[in-house]
Amino acid sequence: MFSYRHAFHAGNHADVLKHTVLIATLTHLLLKEAPLLLLDTHAGAGLYRLDGDHASTSAESADGVARVLAAGTALAPALQDYADAVRAFNRGAAARVYPGSPFLMQRLLRQQDRLKLCELHPTDARALEGNVAQLEAGRQIAVLREDGFEAVRKFLPPPSRRALLLCDPSYEIKTDYARVAAMVQDALRRFPTGVYAIWYPLIARPEAHELPRRLKTLVQKAGKPWLHAALTVKGGRAASAGTDTRRPGLPASGMFLINPPYTLEPALRAALPQMAALLAQDKHAGWTLDSGG
Ligand code: SAM
Repeated sequence: MFSYRHAFHAGNHADVLKHTVLIATLTHLLLKEAPLLLLDTHAGAGLYRLDGDHASTSAESADGVARVLAAGTALAPALQDYADAVRAFNRGAAARVYPGSPFLMQRLLRQQDRLKLCELHPTDARALEGNVAQLEAGRQIAVLREDGFEAVRKFLPPPSRRALLLCDPSYEIKTDYARVAAMVQDALRRFPTGVYAIWYPLIARPEAHELPRRLKTLVQKAGKPWLHAALTVKGGRAASAGTDTRRPGLPASGMFLINPPYTLEPALRAALPQMAALLAQDKHAGWTLDSGG
């Protein structure tokens, strides 16, 4: 079984990027009345305590969401929406609870929408089921203890012909990179007009750098528009080299979107510089945004 537990990383800089993009994308898609299907292939536990054992072991949220919430300046609208979403789960200025992707999506859900959550880790799946049960959402939200890469097939294309899929694996297993690409290829064949959001870590591993290139090639072949945002908070090599024995941590991550809403690129162009400035850990911090199709 996997050893990755998102509780150790909840609210870190990668979550800030991923969840800001997720909220901005979903907010735009919800402007249309027609029902929307939301698919979370790798859902995690749904809610995380930032003052609990897991989070305080790594304290990654201190260099992530906590910096955004403590920002002294006015935030770009997409980053402000993210901060507001996190605050909605908390009382007071600091965040003690961090909402994962299932709960960030659930908060925006309308009656006509559906949310499918896949989680394989038994502990996280149990926690997710418990958290979702509190909502008394009935059939609107389904938790599936299934392999997210496989499970999504049965939901595409959705009857409403509108779907947003978030694919956020832990990439603990090297084959996850290839499985993401294969899942996207299959999903585009089944449902070419779906909106797909893929998160990946930017680490010193060839598969990680190869993934956005593979996705670009796939999407270009399918003739679909794409948007690629990356956020770096520190130099990866410097952090893991030499005599520094501290756990290096994730230096950067990216979000690759297929069929993004047209509003997302300008929203991120405003938010990313601020995100990079707020979350910078050294002089290598920065961001990129490119698009095509
Ligand atoms: N999407 C969540 C969020 O933003 O709050 C975080 C998800 S975490 C990065 C990845 C999760 O995927 C972990 O909880 C892990 O147990 C789960 N997982 C790993 N492989 C899986 C698979 N093949 N299918 C479903 N879940 C899987």
